[in-house]
Amino acid sequence: MNAPHVHSSLDIDWSTEAIVDRRNRFYSASQRKFVPYKEPLILKRGRGQYVWDEKDRKYIDLLGMNLCISVGHAHPQVVKAATEQVSELTHCTTMFYHPVPAQYAEELVATMPAGHDWVVHFTNSGAEAIDLALLMARSHTGSIDMLALGSSYHGATFGAQSVTGIAGFRHQVPQLGGVTFVAEPNQYRGVHGEGVQPYLNEVERAISSSTSGRLAGMIIEPVQGYGGIVPMPAGYIAGAFERVRAAGGVCIIDEVQSGVGRTGDAFWAFESHGVVPDIVVVAKGVGNGIPLGAVIARRAVAESMADKFLFHTYGANPVACAAGRAVLEVMRDERLQENAAKVGGALKERLQELKKDFPLIGDVRGQGLMLAIELVKDRATKEPAPEATLQVFEETRRQGLVASRSGPYRNVIRMCPPLCLSMADLDNVVDSFVRSFRMATSC
Ligand code: PMP
Repeated sequence: MNAPHVHSSLDIDWSTEAIVDRRNRFYSASQRKFVPYKEPLILKRGRGQYVWDEKDRKYIDLLGMNLCISVGHAHPQVVKAATEQVSELTHCTTMFYHPVPAQYAEELVATMPAGHDWVVHFTNSGAEAIDLALLMARSHTGSIDMLALGSSYHGATFGAQSVTGIAGFRHQVPQLGGVTFVAEPNQYRGVHGEGVQPYLNEVERAISSSTSGRLAGMIIEPVQGYGGIVPMPAGYIAGAFERVRAAGGVCIIDEVQSGVGRTGDAFWAFESHGVVPDIVVVAKGVGNGIPLGAVIARRAVAESMADKFLFHTYGANPVACAAGRAVLEVMRDERLQENAAKVGGALKERLQELKKDFPLIGDVRGQGLMLAIELVKDRATKEPAPEATLQVFEETRRQGLVASRSGPYRNVIRMCPPLCLSMADLDNVVDSFVRSFRMATSC
C-alpha cells in the first residue's frame, strides 16, 4: 500500500537564534535549566555512533544521548520495526490485546537469570518504573523502610527523587518518608576508603539504627551513572542484599544506565555480581531512543499488587515494544555486548595511559562502554577540579566529541556511547581528549 500524500505546514526554523529564543521563552525554568555547553549545541541527525549538528558538523556521541542510544542512532532495524508498527496501529491500550508487547515481555524475561519466574510491567520511562518498583517492594513486604545509596540517581518523580542521593536533583518538597541513605562504596573517594566490609557494616548499622528493623527493600545501580560512573565493587551487592533479605526486604536493581550489554561482561550489569534481584528496573537503552521502561519482577513480588489495577497510559505501547524487540535482535545479531567489552576495554586502557601525561586525571574507571575520567587538583588530596573539568569538557566539543560532565562535584567526564563505537573510532576519541587536556592545562 502506498503512503497517502501528506501536506504539512509544520515548518521548522533551524536558525540558532530562533531555537534559543523559543526554548528560553516557552520551556519551563527547570526544563531549560540544564545546558552543558556555553554555546548551544543543536543536533540535527544521527547515525550509528555519530551525530551531526545543524551546520553538518560531525561528532562522536560519547553520551549516547544520555545512554538512550544503545544499538546506534537511527538503526535501520529499529527504525523499520517502529515505523511499521506506527503506521499499522500507533497505540493499543492495555485493556485490549496485542501480540507485540506480549512477545517483547517474553523476550525480556528470557534475558533474566533462568530458573526464576519473572513478569514484566511496562512503563514509559525510568522514573515511572522506579516508582512502581518502590510501590511493589512496599506492597509485597508490608514494610516502609527503604535503603538507598549516596550519589545515586533514580529519576525525577516524587518517588524516584526520594531515593536519589544527589542534592542537585532533590527539590524543596517533603520527599517520601522511610528512605535511609547509606554511603556508596566508591573505591576512589568513598567515605570509608577502599574495601567492601566497612560499607556493608554501614548497611547493618543503618538497618538496626535508622529503620524499624524490617525493610521494604534496597535499591542499587550496579554502576552509578550520574554519581560519576561508580561501579559497585565485587561482593558489595551480594553482601548488601543478604542483609536486606535478612531484614525482610526485597532487592531492587536499577539497570536504566548500566543495562543492555553496556558493561560488556553481561547483558544486565547485576549478573556479574552473583546476585538474583527481586525487581529489575530498565529504561533508556532498551528503546534505543523510543520512550520505553519496564519493571521486571519475580512473579510473587508483582502478585502482591494484584488487587488493584495500575497502568501508565503508554505502558506496553506497541511502537515502543516493537523498537524494544528490534533492539534485542540487533544486540544479538551485531554482538554489541562483545563489542562494548572489546572497544570499552581498549578505550579504558588508552585513557589510563593519559594519566602519565596529565596529572589532572585522578582516576579512570568503568566497565565496557560506561567509562569516566575524574579530574582532581591534586592526586594526593583528590580535591575535585570542577573548573578544569569544564574547560576540558568545552574543548572536547570543539574536538568533535559529545561527552558529559557529571558526578556530585561536576569533575567527572562520562563516556557512555552507543554500543557500536568501533576500534576505528578510538584514535579519534583519544586524540581529541589529548588535545582537550593540552588546551585546558595550557591556559
Ligand atoms: N535510573 C537511572 C540510573 C537513570 O540514570 C535515570 C535517568 N537518567 C532514571 C532512573 C530515570 O529515568 P527517566 O529519566 O527515563 O525517568
